[in-house]
Amino acid sequence: MSVAPVAPAIAPPGPPLWLLAEVTYRCPLHCVFCYNPLDFAQTGRGEELSTADWLRVLREARALGAVQCGFSGGEPLMRDDLEELIAEAHRLGYYTNLLTSGVGLTRERATALKAAGLDHVQLSFQDSTRELNDFLSHTKTFALKQEVGEIIKSHGWPMVMNVVIHRLNIDHIDRIIAMADALGAEYMELANSQYYSWAHLNRDHLLPTSAQIRRAEAVTDAWREKVADRMKLFFVAPDYHEGKPKKCMNGWGNVFLTVTPDGTALPCHTARMLPGLAFPNVREHDVRHIWLESEGFNRYRGTGWMKGACVTCPDKEKDLGGCRCQAFLLAGDPAATDPVCPKSDRHGVVQAAVAAADAGEVPARPLVFRDPKASRALSG
Ligand code: SF4
Ligand code: SF4
Repeated sequence: MSVAPVAPAIAPPGPPLWLLAEVTYRCPLHCVFCYNPLDFAQTGRGEELSTADWLRVLREARALGAVQCGFSGGEPLMRDDLEELIAEAHRLGYYTNLLTSGVGLTRERATALKAAGLDHVQLSFQDSTRELNDFLSHTKTFALKQEVGEIIKSHGWPMVMNVVIHRLNIDHIDRIIAMADALGAEYMELANSQYYSWAHLNRDHLLPTSAQIRRAEAVTDAWREKVADRMKLFFVAPDYHEGKPKKCMNGWGNVFLTVTPDGTALPCHTARMLPGLAFPNVREHDVRHIWLESEGFNRYRGTGWMKGACVTCPDKEKDLGGCRCQAFLLAGDPAATDPVCPKSDRHGVVQAAVAAADAGEVPARPLVFRDPKASRALSG
């Protein structure tokens, strides 16, 4: 008698330790590298989750074991109920983070957020110069951000500064770190742009040259020694240049749960672009069902879905085949080996992009700023 082969069991996932609450796509800024989906404008104000919905999501995720909650957007301060949401998250025992451009963080709101129990604020800058900061965000926000830096410090939060790094600002890295030091930042994240969403659209303007990256790393290392007693510097290297796939989101459905403004639950904030996957909505399902049972969260868990070079690769448990969104964007197949991997049969696409950057090629098409009009035009 023949016995049917038994599919290897996938170990049940641990809890969604990190809940990212993208409470709104509204944002006064228009960053050319924005990570929000290109079609964000289709999600109108009327479709945002209500306060009651968010409070329920916070409770359900916490009951499942979530310990950290990031409030993000868009600009999360655009929501008037942010204090209420943070107070509930704090009461439930989350460690709470606010990820903000600083717009809307007045002294009054900062005091109210502190009273609500907010633990941590991450302030983003676009550059160390007014000109480039304001150009990249298409707003006049540089001076305001400096003020917000002072507000954050005076409310006793650790000062965490984030700057997305790309070809247009990477040569300012020395001044960027000096600015963070002058503002009293304890943590500085120099995050090379990840090429998804608006950054992917603008990639050929934004991808740094290999020489720029080497210089920036050397400058950062020198600063690390200089400020070792007061500031931690994180330089997040770009995977295009490293040729090393990242264990994206620490593994699909492993640790991260993102809930978008309209309630769609995602294993990462860009996964909605992937074709053939229906992602669940918190309006229709509770978080336990979403995390444990839904097709959207189970499809790329573990290694059983892999194909191509990943199947027999000794590194497959280490990086889990890289990023599914990048595989889709660059290879047209979410289950393909991430093309940043040299073993991918589409690695040439990444090499060509880096070669074009190294050759100083600039596309004829101008930069596209993130705004609702551009979003509607791009999403038809
Ligand atoms: S990246 Fe810029 S435009 Fe996008 S949400 Fe953040 S601040 Fe707003
Ligand atoms: S072949 Fe797949 S598993 Fe191996 S290093 Fe490349 S992306 Fe990672």
